[in-house]
Amino acid sequence: MTLTRTTCPYCGVGCGVLAAADGTIKGDPDHPANFGRLCSKGAALGETIDLDGRLLHPQINGVRANWDTALDMVAQRFSDAIAQHGPESVAFYASGQMLIEDYYVANKLMKGFIGAANIDTNSRLCMASSVAGHKRAFGTDTVPGTYEDLEQADLVVLVGSNLAWCHPVLHQRIAAAKQARPHMRIVNVDPRRTATTDLADVHLRIAPDGDVALFNGLLAYLAETGKLDKAYTENHVNGLDAALAAAQASDPADSGLNARELADFYALWANTPKVVTAYSQGVNQSVCGTDKVNAILNCHLATGRIGKAGMGPFSLTGQPNAMGGREVGGLANMLANHLEIGNEAHRSAVQSFWQSPTICTKPGLKAVDLFEACANGQIKALWVISTNPAVSLPDADGVAAAIANVPFVVTSDIMEKTDTNALADVLLPATGWGEKDGTVTNSERRISRQRAFLPAPAEARPDWKIISDVAKRMGFSGAFSYGSSADVFAEYVALDQAASAFPRDLDLSIFADADYAKMVPTQWPRNGARFFANGQYYHPDGKAQMVAVTSPVSLNSRFTLNTGRNRDQWHTMTRTGKSARLGAHLAEPYVEMNPVDAAALGALPGALIALQNSRGRVLMRALITPRVAQGALFAPMHWTRQRSTAGTVNSVMTPLTDPISGQPALKASAVTAEVF
Ligand code: SF4
Repeated sequence: MTLTRTTCPYCGVGCGVLAAADGTIKGDPDHPANFGRLCSKGAALGETIDLDGRLLHPQINGVRANWDTALDMVAQRFSDAIAQHGPESVAFYASGQMLIEDYYVANKLMKGFIGAANIDTNSRLCMASSVAGHKRAFGTDTVPGTYEDLEQADLVVLVGSNLAWCHPVLHQRIAAAKQARPHMRIVNVDPRRTATTDLADVHLRIAPDGDVALFNGLLAYLAETGKLDKAYTENHVNGLDAALAAAQASDPADSGLNARELADFYALWANTPKVVTAYSQGVNQSVCGTDKVNAILNCHLATGRIGKAGMGPFSLTGQPNAMGGREVGGLANMLANHLEIGNEAHRSAVQSFWQSPTICTKPGLKAVDLFEACANGQIKALWVISTNPAVSLPDADGVAAAIANVPFVVTSDIMEKTDTNALADVLLPATGWGEKDGTVTNSERRISRQRAFLPAPAEARPDWKIISDVAKRMGFSGAFSYGSSADVFAEYVALDQAASAFPRDLDLSIFADADYAKMVPTQWPRNGARFFANGQYYHPDGKAQMVAVTSPVSLNSRFTLNTGRNRDQWHTMTRTGKSARLGAHLAEPYVEMNPVDAAALGALPGALIALQNSRGRVLMRALITPRVAQGALFAPMHWTRQRSTAGTVNSVMTPLTDPISGQPALKASAVTAEVF
């Protein structure tokens, strides 16, 4: 059996996989992300490649249609909406599951040919606060670190990250490094005790959104104890005084930690030069996510602990290609290739390269706003690609109603029965993992190939081709005449070279002569290159920017509901739900509740608990555990309305967002809880 070298479709670690059509799956020993390791999800990929439940033919209003009829209808309805209501009346909602090639073509159609920027993706739910924080601090959306830094650090601080379940192979790498270097210390900053806490030397049970107070307190401590790197800040950093003043005005006790915990953590961080602060959704998915990111970056900039081996901030990307999506400009506030919508020279260069009739001139609607625009009638045609927003967005019931309010909805998906597909006029069958070709970028800027090892089933087609075929029917044929995913990737690299005069971090020149078929996992800008090693950043004066940040106001609720992933499931279980082995881990929706709260409610283990607020109601079984603090609840995000008659947890997540990044606060929603 021939094994094909490809990449896992789940988390942002981006593990290399050797796969065959008979379901054989092995970790790729030569892939620099995993060196042969796989987690439970990756190892079970072979159990998820059957065609049960697949969308295999186009459908119009629930009836099978042929491709030409379906594509003609999509093109016509989008063209009609644009002609009658303008380009801002249409929108795409895409996904960090899409490959770079799919993302690039969708972004090009919306921004360069339709002429609006209403393309946002579920990466808004994942990384938008990191993007905004990076841009404020560095002038670019640059992840400076690598996985090796996490292994070489003497102190790894994991903030808002259940790495053991959400990035398991990276967790394994850190565990192995700690075993080999026993002096290595790990601090886990999380309101919950999780599987990741088991590896940590210290668990800091922070209050929800207590991160700004914690890291502001650290910055003030570093100044007070003479640990700032004055030479570094004088030469390479702006904004120290203002950031420090805000930090000194902040109360570390707002972190929810006691004085002993704070003092020990601050001393450990201050006295360990090689420290990596790695953070994920507990930081990003917050009303103050961008400020949390900058509070962390401030501490690294103020001490010069960045741009060197074994130290620096590290944003852990959730999805397999959230990074690639950012690189091609797949968010509503980006252009393409790390170029800016607000920069006229950038717009002109991209339009010239694309030879497009127009170019967007202002940012489009971010995810939560986009669906509000669906609800209020602004959006007349919506294309949802490779994601299930009727379940995955906060206020999920309101989002479902908003989608139902759009006059024309098309979805591209691999599965037929999803909560969002049920609301669509046209369903377009897409090829899935193992059937399609393309590239993805992992958390450490490494671009790897996903390769097909299965035939496309029935009438399924790759997303880049579906989008191109609609673009051609909208009258843009010349610019979308790609013959393969390799053609799309080559154009993406060529655009980067055409924009090489603009100072940016993105540099794809290493791929200019790459043989797409044989491409090996490659880190941009160059394998082994280290960003910011010379203290040069991307703001006009070449300096980094520290940002003054303040703590948010507390939710002040009897119960605060936090959401996240289970070890063996991915997103809405489209693929992982097919594996009985994975389903055996945690088989049904549950809500973690502290024993004191359970006693107060009269809830016994396994009792049905009703969680409710003004947005909706959901039922879940009580999992009574001290892993969560009193007043805190935790529920997994995976179950859809179609998989659970008790509802989906996002029905009770309020659609509050970070005002800078637009990322929803999926880690904290005020709810009531009672025994059902
Ligand atoms: Fe896939 Fe992530 Fe597991 Fe690696 S760690 S096998 S990328 S889910």
